[in-house]
Amino acid sequence: MNSTAVIRVKDLKKYFPVRKGVFGRTVGHVHAVDGVSFDINEVETLGLVGESGCGKSTVGRTLIRLLEPTSGSIYLGNDELTHLHSKDLRPHRKKMQMIFQDPFASLDPRMTARDIVGELLDVHDGLTRKEKDRRVAELFERVGLRSNQMDNYPHEFSGGQRQRLGIARALSLRPQVIICDEPVSALDVSIQAQVVNLLAELQAELGLSYLFISHDLAVVKHISHRVAIMYLGRIVEIGTRRDLFENPQHPYTESLLSAVPIPDPKARRKVRVLQGDVPSPINRPKGCHFHTRCPYATDRCEREDPVMHDITSSHAVACHLR
Ligand code: SF4
Repeated sequence: MNSTAVIRVKDLKKYFPVRKGVFGRTVGHVHAVDGVSFDINEVETLGLVGESGCGKSTVGRTLIRLLEPTSGSIYLGNDELTHLHSKDLRPHRKKMQMIFQDPFASLDPRMTARDIVGELLDVHDGLTRKEKDRRVAELFERVGLRSNQMDNYPHEFSGGQRQRLGIARALSLRPQVIICDEPVSALDVSIQAQVVNLLAELQAELGLSYLFISHDLAVVKHISHRVAIMYLGRIVEIGTRRDLFENPQHPYTESLLSAVPIPDPKARRKVRVLQGDVPSPINRPKGCHFHTRCPYATDRCEREDPVMHDITSSHAVACHLR
């Protein structure tokens, strides 16, 4: 094991049964996550990228055990969390928190901001009212909210402020790891940068590790140290930010990158539009799952599933051509 790994995920699978008929017979499975492995080190951000429906959010929810894994293993430090029951999971839950995409939907509209941010302190920390208020005020200040907003309700905050509330709540138990599930996708572009910069500052100050789930490669490039690309429930390429953005190896990564806007208006990049739709995660293509959309596919790709292999010590890919 990498000595600095805070999170270690090995061959994680999450399948959802597809049921039919009055007796709810299982007729197949949605292979939402199908053998995903990665580590996240101390004070590191791993970006997890892919199109909608590729399974990236399911990875985050399974990691934090909002969903039960079908198989595989999840370690937080040296502790295996994979099959812990809720009582035994509780002390570990403090160390791993989640920020959700839609700050409005994830905050209870009937609770004040003070109660939202302090709720987890009631469950886990048993502080006195005064201690809790002091801690909530500190958290407000730390995420750039004013303490005189503590008795406001979620609808009285802007979208960016609501996401700051979500971040304050996630920080309340001093976690080691935060799963950020599309944390800026619902925000205006100008606000996105502020929230991403806040997350980066908090990481440096508090020594946090992030799994940053996003479909937006430009945002991922800004915040991630390493990046993993997912397609149909599997990681197809993983490497440092530099590996992925300067030397992409998987044809799917290449096509995602070709669609990222270049800030220089004079510069032009050939956009390689992917043909066809993402295949169903219930009936996935045989061989390489990407072969139905890959411009380089050969007969072998239709027959044989490529295995993930190292290209360098930091960069791995699952493609027959590399
Ligand atoms: Fe394309 Fe074949 Fe590589 Fe799959 S294995 S990405 S189909 S070249």
